[in-house]
Amino acid sequence: METIEQQVRELFCWLCQTPHPSGEEAALRERIADRLRGLGLHPWADTRGNLVCDLPGREGAPLTAVQAHIDMVCAVGSPDYVPSRDPIRPIVRDGFLCTAGESSLGADCGAGAAVMLWLAEHPAPQRPPLRLLFTVDEEVGLGGARDLDPACVDGVRYLINTDGFHWGRIVIGSAGGVREHFTRALTHSNAPELPNGRAYRLKISGLRGGHSGFDIGKTRANALILLGELLRETRMESPFALIDLSGGTAFNAIPYEATADILTIAPAQDAIEQIWDKIYARIQKNDPDARLEIQDIDIPSRVWSGDTASGLLTVLGGFADGVYARHPSGVVSDSSNLGHIYYKDGMVCLDAMLRCMDAQAEQALQLSHRTVCAMCGFAGQIVSRYPAWPAQDNGTLQTLAAQCYLDATGQEAEVTVQHVGLEPSHLLAKNEQMECICVGMELLDCHSPQERWKLDTIEPFVEMIQRLLSRLSTAPQP
Ligand SMILES: [Zn+2]
Repeated sequence: METIEQQVRELFCWLCQTPHPSGEEAALRERIADRLRGLGLHPWADTRGNLVCDLPGREGAPLTAVQAHIDMVCAVGSPDYVPSRDPIRPIVRDGFLCTAGESSLGADCGAGAAVMLWLAEHPAPQRPPLRLLFTVDEEVGLGGARDLDPACVDGVRYLINTDGFHWGRIVIGSAGGVREHFTRALTHSNAPELPNGRAYRLKISGLRGGHSGFDIGKTRANALILLGELLRETRMESPFALIDLSGGTAFNAIPYEATADILTIAPAQDAIEQIWDKIYARIQKNDPDARLEIQDIDIPSRVWSGDTASGLLTVLGGFADGVYARHPSGVVSDSSNLGHIYYKDGMVCLDAMLRCMDAQAEQALQLSHRTVCAMCGFAGQIVSRYPAWPAQDNGTLQTLAAQCYLDATGQEAEVTVQHVGLEPSHLLAKNEQMECICVGMELLDCHSPQERWKLDTIEPFVEMIQRLLSRLSTAPQP
């Protein structure tokens, strides 16, 4: 007889036969729907392409949804592999399911989808009525969940999202995100006549940078913020005009590099180096490879107007950046990342990203950014926003899930929050009565050709889900 692990693995390999990069899930959705119809079920899709299928369960028990996204990030590891055309070819190696390296595996989140199919194919009497939710376009801004027809979660009391990567971790909340964009007209003036004047390019580089969700709590310096500090300190010693300033790459990336060109009234290299040494002494523990390069450049004919320069330097000093607050679990709850400063169409532009679980923290940070920027002549706008999944401590679903994990493994689950957006934030916005958790099996190196799925976490995961569903089948209706 096949083990549960083999059964789930076979279902996953069946999913792998149809390519399903984000935005190209239609063929796989149709195959899944056919398979479910073959079981006598009645799946339906919303206009966005999310697939829904109800499974019968104990009468009177709370409707419980199990959810996975069916798109994947197709990382390419071989020139012969074409994501839209080629199936994924899973192999077993050293206790993991992986590919031979030609592509990512798609266990994020195909592993969860396979378990959902397993639930459909293995009915059990001790279950609440189940709603399987196969969502699309998760990997490109949670698109399927964001646009999901609210009818898909209508009446759902509990939602189990299977997009976790760590077996033993129960996620009970995630930060929302706000992308902010500030601009100010860049005005120039003629460069002053300076008999001893020197022009320098100051480049800070070698910082670790990273993802503004996963890495912002790791005390990594922001190159733009450091550059601002360096320039403000320099100005105390040696007045200068700003010729140019830019740095960073994106809203959601911690800047690892930033550059400013300045025109000083006299040679200032030694003074600048001394200031940098003090800054470096402070940050070297976390950013040991940080460095400042100072290069002589030609004296320009034009510089930034004093207003523009002072405005930007003041913003760099006053802009709330980094960790704002932490959840009791130690995970960052609220943060801000000044991600990118650049010049476009006559404007100095500044992009930042807030991630907040707490609505008040989000408001406070937004107001602080808007105030500082407005005082310095910058106009602001919100480019995009997605809601938080506020952690609800000691909810029924979370408590039962932790007990079932303990029963299935003899160990305590880690109950925590995540500083990166998850689909339940959008789903909750459509049905605030739901309780949600995010759980998963052990996946490593997702979104890369080295992605792999630890096979011995399948069986205990399914056992935990079975126990949890059984407990929910007798949970009181609120
Ligand atoms: Zn995922």
